[in-house]
Amino acid sequence: MTYAYLKGQFVPVDQAKISIQNNTFQYGTGIFEGIRAYWNPQGRQLYVFRLVEHFCRMLRNCRVLKLNIGKDEKELSEIATELLRKNHPETDTYIRPIAYVDSDGLGPKFVGYPTGFAMYTIPLGDYIDVSSGIKVGFSSWRRINDNTIPARCKVTGGYVNSALAKTEALEHGYDEAIFLTENGFISEGSAENIFLIRGGKLITPALSEDILEGITRETIIELAREELGIETVERPIGRTELYVADEAFLCGTGAQVSPMIEVDKRPLGNGRIGPITAKIQALYFDVVKGKQKKYSHWLAPVY
Ligand code: PMP
Repeated sequence: MTYAYLKGQFVPVDQAKISIQNNTFQYGTGIFEGIRAYWNPQGRQLYVFRLVEHFCRMLRNCRVLKLNIGKDEKELSEIATELLRKNHPETDTYIRPIAYVDSDGLGPKFVGYPTGFAMYTIPLGDYIDVSSGIKVGFSSWRRINDNTIPARCKVTGGYVNSALAKTEALEHGYDEAIFLTENGFISEGSAENIFLIRGGKLITPALSEDILEGITRETIIELAREELGIETVERPIGRTELYVADEAFLCGTGAQVSPMIEVDKRPLGNGRIGPITAKIQALYFDVVKGKQKKYSHWLAPVY
């Protein structure tokens, strides 16, 4: 039996239902998270990557929307761990918590409604390709602006922007879309942050570029500095700087580290996965799979 968490209880997932009149279902007024747990077959252990950090971000995002889950990051981490123990996966797993407006009230607003909280888990392999290199295209859809729907937060309704861009990208034969901001600078992918490599340095859009404050982004900045001695510059990046980059990759909890080999039908670098990208990817997978003792504080064992 697979369980979900809803209204303070663990219930069979097929019984974890909310009303079609629910406010968040109607208006996209929720905050969600995406967390990965990696199965380590040698140690027969499931490691959740940066569990507490994900719930810290969720609580920060809830503040923006005036949602109040009524639990702190430790309590939420415990619920996630207990849910995983109940479902007992022995495979790579995705954890999806969501805070929502727990009311059938008509009208989009964040005052006068209680907050609900739910969570489920599903098995998840690669979300996008990580081994052969992906082809991306700039989207004709601009990234949602901080003064419309804050991209900094994982707002459910904000993902209409991602869905439009991803759909267009797939229909044009690309694997993923890259957004520009309203000001015309590179923002991020539909569900990933972006890094460029030029002259041996990492470059990524600053937090001011309408991006999600990615946990993988932060992880990679730290791993590159600590393990490879590579600093990351956070600054505005024009569209054509990606065309002339030596290497580039997307990153995220779902995407992990996904090298890009083509942008807008132009080969990126020499059109093959770059050496620094390959190093960062290998390091990232070692860390999340528990093969780097130095970073074991980022892993929460479930069993
Ligand atoms: N940007 C967007 C729009 C996303 O949905 C995600 C996935 N959560 C990311 C970036 C990457 O964030 P993280 O590394 O925290 O998963």
